[in-house]
Amino acid sequence: MKKVIFLLFIFVLNFSSAQNSGLKIVEKPINYSPERIRLSLEYLQDHHGLIQKTPTIVPKMIVLHYTAGGTVESNFKYFNNTHLESARNTLKKQSTLNVSSQYIIDRDGTVYQLMEPNQFARHTIGLNYCAIGVENIGSKSQPLTDKQVEANAQLVRYLTQKYKIEYLIGHSEYGVFRNSKLWKESDPKYFTGKEDPGKEFMNKVRQKVSDLKLKDKP
Ligand SMILES: [Zn+2]
Repeated sequence: MKKVIFLLFIFVLNFSSAQNSGLKIVEKPINYSPERIRLSLEYLQDHHGLIQKTPTIVPKMIVLHYTAGGTVESNFKYFNNTHLESARNTLKKQSTLNVSSQYIIDRDGTVYQLMEPNQFARHTIGLNYCAIGVENIGSKSQPLTDKQVEANAQLVRYLTQKYKIEYLIGHSEYGVFRNSKLWKESDPKYFTGKEDPGKEFMNKVRQKVSDLKLKDKP
């Protein structure tokens, strides 16, 4: 009996805080190649005015997105490329670093981690240097699921325990930060209108984490 209790104790100790909250994170790292590191450092300097030795961020904000189509696999493949595809000319003029996000959440609520949450990813103009990006498989015509609402809420809760997160926004809301101290973008014209992941989804996630008192504006 004593042995059983001891083993149970060890078992409980091995559980991380993420697992304690019922959140399971599947690691699915993208290729953070030396070239991606170089381009990320260049982006941090050119766009955010930050000279750093490593492409890391101090997370203050979480930005939720949707992918506008595809599957986890197809989006993973897309983000895995270091360079932007040739079609994305507006973005390419600014940097050839490909877009990506730290997390991607499938329609069944499975959370995949594509890189460390404090590694730099290009997903939200002006705020990448302090924002963790969470992509969700879905689009305007394929609304996000209740399981995704739950998984996003759990991930937000987990990351808020890990870092000093003060803000939770949807990508479509990022414009309100444009004239704030948080906004770091050297090109005042570099801004694109976004509608992801939608107001309804944001309301549902916010309701579930309302106790965290995360802000949606500067
Ligand atoms: Zn987005």
